Amino acid sequence: MRRFKGDLLLVASHNQGKLEEIADLLGPYGVKIIGAAEKGLDEPAETENSFVGNARIKAHAATKATGLPALSDDSGLAIDALGGEPGVYSADWAETETGRDFEKAMARAHAALLASGAARPWTARFCCTLVLAWPDGHDEVFCGTIYGEITWPMRGDQGHGYDPIFIPDGHDLTFGQMDRWKKNRMSHRADAFAKLLQGCFD
Ligand code: IMP
Repeated sequence: MRRFKGDLLLVASHNQGKLEEIADLLGPYGVKIIGAAEKGLDEPAETENSFVGNARIKAHAATKATGLPALSDDSGLAIDALGGEPGVYSADWAETETGRDFEKAMARAHAALLASGAARPWTARFCCTLVLAWPDGHDEVFCGTIYGEITWPMRGDQGHGYDPIFIPDGHDLTFGQMDRWKKNRMSHRADAFAKLLQGCFD
């Protein structure tokens, strides 16, 4: 496992929320974060059919373009009765002509579950893959997961994406009903980041 030795890390994301969260996590390790937008990077097409494949595309494109080590993430919801869908297409299911609409995406997931005839519980998991890539082409990959089930109707107005229909195992509330702090500590992203920190930063 290669350790991160520098003090500047490029985060291959244009999402300000993600950048702040990562800066917060890596601050104690003396690492400064710089975002893709600050470096004028475009978002590469995510043409792979796996979280790892797409996270690799983003991290390697960013490290090649800048010469800095780069961290990317790719995440989504995999519903077992739908063969893992929406999976890497989680954001695509929300696309409309006027932007993303996750109520539409959640309704589509529910309709697909009803059409599948699958019995409850509708088991599912959120996955997060992190890739840390270096300019010489080396990378380290970390996957985080949280298991749970899909519920209907949607519940809660916190969080984002598919949070209102996902109940993590061992809980009664959906992610959409939990406070953000509580969710962020148990999420697939927290799991992946704990592995990244242990592997490359501790
Ligand atoms: P991306 O990895 O930022 O492209 O995110 C992929 C998509 O997965 C998001 O747009 C959400 O639809 C979904 N997703 C990822 N993580 C979460 C989460 O923690 N809650 C709800 N939806 C999520």
